[in-house]
Amino acid sequence: MGKIQNLKIDDTFTTQLPADPIEADHQRQVKGACFSFVSPTPTNNPTLIHSSAEMAETLGIDNTDSPHFLNIVSGQKNVEGMRPYAMCYGGHQFGNWAGQLGDGRAINIAEVETKSGNWFLQLKGAGRTPYSRGADGLAVLRSSIREYLMSEAMFHLGISTTRALSLSLTGDEVLRDVLYNGNAAYEKGAVVCRTAPSFIRFGNFEIFASWQDKVNLKGLADYTIRTNYPHLGEPSKEVYLQFFKEVAVRSRKMVLDWQRVGFVHGVMNTDNMSILGLTIDYGPYGWLENYDPGWTPNTTDAQHKRYRYGNQPSVVLWNLTQLANAIYPLIEDVPALEAILDEFKTTYQSEYETMMLSKLGIFDSQADDANFINQLTENLRRTETDMTLFFRNLTKLNSTAPIDHLALIQTDSYLSPEDFERKAFQWKAWLNEYATRVKSGNNSETNRHAKMNAINPKYVLRNYMAHVAIESADKGDYSIIDELFQLLKQPYDEQPKNQKWFTKRPSWADEKVGCSMLSCSS
Ligand code: AMP
Ligand code: MG
Repeated sequence: MGKIQNLKIDDTFTTQLPADPIEADHQRQVKGACFSFVSPTPTNNPTLIHSSAEMAETLGIDNTDSPHFLNIVSGQKNVEGMRPYAMCYGGHQFGNWAGQLGDGRAINIAEVETKSGNWFLQLKGAGRTPYSRGADGLAVLRSSIREYLMSEAMFHLGISTTRALSLSLTGDEVLRDVLYNGNAAYEKGAVVCRTAPSFIRFGNFEIFASWQDKVNLKGLADYTIRTNYPHLGEPSKEVYLQFFKEVAVRSRKMVLDWQRVGFVHGVMNTDNMSILGLTIDYGPYGWLENYDPGWTPNTTDAQHKRYRYGNQPSVVLWNLTQLANAIYPLIEDVPALEAILDEFKTTYQSEYETMMLSKLGIFDSQADDANFINQLTENLRRTETDMTLFFRNLTKLNSTAPIDHLALIQTDSYLSPEDFERKAFQWKAWLNEYATRVKSGNNSETNRHAKMNAINPKYVLRNYMAHVAIESADKGDYSIIDELFQLLKQPYDEQPKNQKWFTKRPSWADEKVGCSMLSCSS
């Protein structure tokens, strides 16, 4: 028996908030409750593929190899004292109110007390719940690999995120129609045990607001403040407002970090917005390769591209507006809420400029910074330049001979040399200005480069990399999962032996399903 039995279970969510009186998994509207008790569906023959040593350590788990650990993280067995449940929430999907959603394929198994506060353990893909809405409650290996690798990679990038403890195969098969075109096929089923100090989403508040259930709205807000925002003090009108303000600040910092590294979430519905400002629900996410603000990896959003890279900050603000509407009955002060939303806009803009300049190694501001940054992103877009490579390679530019720089940038572009030549005309002026700005700064070159490398990751989980790991895992080889997991633990380090992952997307991945396009069912 592993040490996991020594974990201290401390279920605050289920003991302090109202439960759905029905304990069955049939589909239903759940009113007046924050969650429904459910049991994970036992699986045929679970096996552990990978576990995160860092996350295990945070939780105080020292043995992830035991059958006991596997039983818990694959949903086979409830440990004494564990009472699994699915959370009830609603949400705005693609701009429209969608009503009740809830944990349709996620089951919380326990809240574990640790030195860094309580952590929730949640199994994604462990079977049906009252919120499964006709679907199977299961997850396939490919999407589970993507969530598992990305949550931990995001953490190591220093970006606020839910975490992942383990990735297991269930031993069962799951039927999926990847392209929604009638060609369903069986795939391997898997479960990720994910973890967070809270899985509460904007949608948990919205559902009570939609029922005009102020009692439960207040109960949930009070619980969240006392549990996750205790520094704000005992709940009151003023404290609810401060709470909203802090959620807005955290969400703003999260999206600023996404823009810094080129992460595109893909499904920023309000049910996928964490009340702690954590990146949550890794589905059809992707990484910008050729810089294109209009890009989204999500085929479900191909028409309107609501969740494209360049729109993410505005969407966070839109989502915060929905949260403001939901908790309005607790605050009843429109100007105060609006002031917070307005501040988001102005602060984000100035933080974005500072962040972009820092990526360039410029640490003082000038009046025309917005224009200087716009010209840069416009050049990157026009010459289809790889975002990660461009920023990381910037330290190679020799500030005394800016003219050679064009050749360097060309190697990071997806265009043919001829097309690059044709479209690169505006780079020269920008590069000259850049050289001037860098020279006038008072950082030494070494110091400037160190600062740049600390915020411009060298290694990110490019879409094709996850795809390569998935293809070999499908054949039973999990070594690339571990290789990428280890690589992405030091995303800002040079790691010369891993140089092969510091390269443009290979051309075979250009139009491949799973590399350039993903659907919500991912
Ligand atoms: P997502 O876009 O992945 O955040 O999911 C949106 C909603 O659909 C959530 O309520 C999920 O729980 C639910 N959902 C997605 N996939 C499944 C599935 N395979 N089985 C049950 N519910 C699902
Ligand atoms: Mg979701």
